[in-house]
Amino acid sequence: MRRNIHVMSGITIKRLLAGLATLALLVTAQGALVHVHAGELEAVRLRYAALPAGVDPAAAAVRAGRLDAAFQPLSEDALRFAQGAARWYRLRLDSDWRAHSAPLLVIRNARFQPVTLYAAGDPREQAQEHAQSGRDARFSRRALVFELPRDLRAGQSLYLRMPASTKPRPFSARVYPEEAYHVDDVGWVRVMTFFESVQFTMILVGLTLWLALRDRLYGYFVGYLVPQFFYLLIASGDMYSLPGTGWLEPLGIRALWFVAALSTPFALSFIIEFCEMRRIAPRLARVLSWLRWPWAVLALTSLLPLAWHAHNSLQPDVGNALFLLCSLAAIVAVIVAWRRGSVAAGVFLLAWIPQSIFTALRALQLLLQLPLPGWLEFGLPAALALSSLVLTLGLGLSTLQARRERDDARDEARRDPLTGVHNRRALMARIAEALTEARQQHAPLSLIFLDLDHFKAINDRHGHLIGDACLRILAERVQSELRPGDTLARWGGEEFVVLLPATALGEATLIGERIRRRVEADPFIASGVAVAITVSLGLSGHTRATIESPEQLIEQADAALYRAKAAGRNRLIVHPAFAAVP
Ligand code: GH3
Ligand code: MG
Ligand code: MG
Repeated sequence: MRRNIHVMSGITIKRLLAGLATLALLVTAQGALVHVHAGELEAVRLRYAALPAGVDPAAAAVRAGRLDAAFQPLSEDALRFAQGAARWYRLRLDSDWRAHSAPLLVIRNARFQPVTLYAAGDPREQAQEHAQSGRDARFSRRALVFELPRDLRAGQSLYLRMPASTKPRPFSARVYPEEAYHVDDVGWVRVMTFFESVQFTMILVGLTLWLALRDRLYGYFVGYLVPQFFYLLIASGDMYSLPGTGWLEPLGIRALWFVAALSTPFALSFIIEFCEMRRIAPRLARVLSWLRWPWAVLALTSLLPLAWHAHNSLQPDVGNALFLLCSLAAIVAVIVAWRRGSVAAGVFLLAWIPQSIFTALRALQLLLQLPLPGWLEFGLPAALALSSLVLTLGLGLSTLQARRERDDARDEARRDPLTGVHNRRALMARIAEALTEARQQHAPLSLIFLDLDHFKAINDRHGHLIGDACLRILAERVQSELRPGDTLARWGGEEFVVLLPATALGEATLIGERIRRRVEADPFIASGVAVAITVSLGLSGHTRATIESPEQLIEQADAALYRAKAAGRNRLIVHPAFAAVP
């Protein structure tokens, strides 16, 4: 919790604003694209009729019109796949086709079902399905598109054979002039390509970070985004236009189930890791990690060409229900983590809420057999793109946090916890560095060993706490007399060392005297108690001739300090070797 609060204060307003501006830009771009596309496509009026479900005569008989008397008129809203049986539909134009571009019959929401068209007077049988390779490249795979004869007349019959479905799912069948349909279709392609590109870019970012940082968090991120990206590609049909994807065709809708089943467990792993769930909410972390296992089973069964996939909807129903359950559990867990102070969980909520709302609505729409409205069709890929962007932002934040923690730890290891000045280890490294520099540049170097006078007596009289406070005040006073390049370190107990690079004997003596007087000048006020304190100082330095190591430098300063104590304390003594330097 403390760590997160620390991060929060570390995020500058500027960075937050930049993040928000990026988001606003993306949302605006998406809104603009969807808006550009939203011009409603005007369909031609049709009369619909259907044979009773399960009546499945030979195509030749239907095409010859021998069953026309058996077709019952029905409204457009009543177009549905029949459960467990094929169903025949008949479509007729209200008036003769007069538009200058050809009429297109557009079937939406057939999902992965094959649809067959028989036009009266046309001997050809045209069959299409979503995953089929070699489809007419003029159109996107958003819908099944059949080209109709230009001389289509009112009352001329078009027969559609819809295969048996596991559920009475609605579909739509409309006729549009080719030109208008193209404009609409290109708009859709533009929007989908945009969303898919955003997803793809985020995958590349995640992959690059993963390879560079070798942090499994990024691995989970990629593991979760890649199947989601393929889900978008398969659902939009763009996948089937890619080279080398012919093997996907026989899988049909099972390819979609498979990638959906792969994405969720990675998403759960990602949440556990990203929101530090194991530390913040260990029990919820365990629930989330258990929830990953059923997906392994679902992924396997979706790949198997089981006969019952064709006859019942157990697989997608279980998948959708499990997905809703996982989303619920994940949202509860993330909210709990967020309430307990995890900033990462907050970022995740921001990314996850729009996406899970749209995914849940889509799952509900499928479960309840409702038609697919345009805002939902675009809402889902938009939310997916948005969420991967926000998450990438969040990954950036968590990298920033890790870097800060590392820097803090490094800094902490170099400091004395009581006074905050350098510790002995950091000092020795610093002296070695400064000595090398002094030798290379033939520059002077001075070092002062400083010890409080009669500090034991101060402790005995006022107690250790006041003694500690005096040590802190001393460190502050000494520091205030130093220059930016100087180093103050606590050697141990009540002993301190001051390193003065590029400082010769004369200047070092002045600084040492200044320190001594500054300590002596005013009593230390610790917890309201005034304590009179003095210090003794020993000065040594780099003489080129004798000083070889940091240890020797310290030893000589310590020896000088010993003589300062012996000479009555509260004074500075220069080591003879240093004093003799010409
Ligand atoms: P001298 O003038 O000879 O240096 O006398 P002194 O009493 O300062 O020296 P001595 O070495 O006898 O005692 C050092 C005292 O410093 C002993 C201990 O009580 C005190 N001391 C050492 N480290 C700390 C500390 O971290 N906090 C406090 N409050 N006292 C400390
Ligand atoms: Mg001492
Ligand atoms: Mg002392």
